[in-house]
Amino acid sequence: MQHLNKIYQIGGATVTRVDEIPLPDVAPSVLYPDLDPGAFKQYARFLGDGSYDRNTGTLTESIHTWLVQFSDYTMLVDTGVGNGKTLPATPQFGHLDLPYLDRLLAAGVRPEAVDFVLLTHVHMDHVGWNTRFENGRWLPTFPNAKYIFSRTEQQYSASLSGHTPAPDLPPPRLGKPIRQPAPNVYDQSVAPIIEAGLAELIDVDGAEVLDGISFLPTPGHSVDHASIRLRSGGQEALFLGDVMHHPLQVYRANLRSVYCEFPEAARASRERILSDASQNQALCFTSHFAETSAGYVRRENDGFQWQFV
Ligand SMILES: [Zn+2]
Repeated sequence: MQHLNKIYQIGGATVTRVDEIPLPDVAPSVLYPDLDPGAFKQYARFLGDGSYDRNTGTLTESIHTWLVQFSDYTMLVDTGVGNGKTLPATPQFGHLDLPYLDRLLAAGVRPEAVDFVLLTHVHMDHVGWNTRFENGRWLPTFPNAKYIFSRTEQQYSASLSGHTPAPDLPPPRLGKPIRQPAPNVYDQSVAPIIEAGLAELIDVDGAEVLDGISFLPTPGHSVDHASIRLRSGGQEALFLGDVMHHPLQVYRANLRSVYCEFPEAARASRERILSDASQNQALCFTSHFAETSAGYVRRENDGFQWQFV
């Protein structure tokens, strides 16, 4: 079944969500191990029914990707979990067989027509459709695309997967990691892209990598996590990646998700990007919010609030 998602216009670009996996019934204390029930009660009143099920007391999330189309080229921001992956750390996401590419096609895009794949970070649920399994091996799903992502993310996950060691990573300024990226993800979803010569590894430093597109450093969730800024026709959008997982974190910016590798750096990045987003009135496209997954951050008193659009 195909649902038609909302289309957003940012200057000369249209942005559409391509759905992969709805994630209902997430226990708040599992997603946010430091969340105290009193604080949750206080902030839950700001959450809509599409993000918080008041009957079960659970949060709703989503895994999806963003399709960005200009008149002359087509991009994807992040690529979900992918089909047929071996993911022992998260077996519920392993060996999927989902019609993601049919949904992309329903949005008018064949895999061959994707010119750029932009990756916010190298985690299981952001790089999966980089590849698909064909004739006994993992091959690029988007054979004509340049895959643009952080060199540091690549080096760190390659080293953890037993490839070239990266003795300088992670950088000490991020603090000690409390978890590591999941196994197999590099070998199944990243290495084949590099072997095919389709990777363009970049420094995440805020410089433009394409016209109007820049990768902003927001490390902490992962070693060199980026939020991606799109500017076109005087308008601005931010693809936030995993700076936040749920609107609750807009209200409680100091809350780390269970998936953050460097919690203190992640918190600092979250506060910085929330401030940036509200100041620039950027339309924010999130990786894991449910509902429309898109909205605005506004400053309110000492903190921030979220408005879906
Ligand atoms: Zn994620």
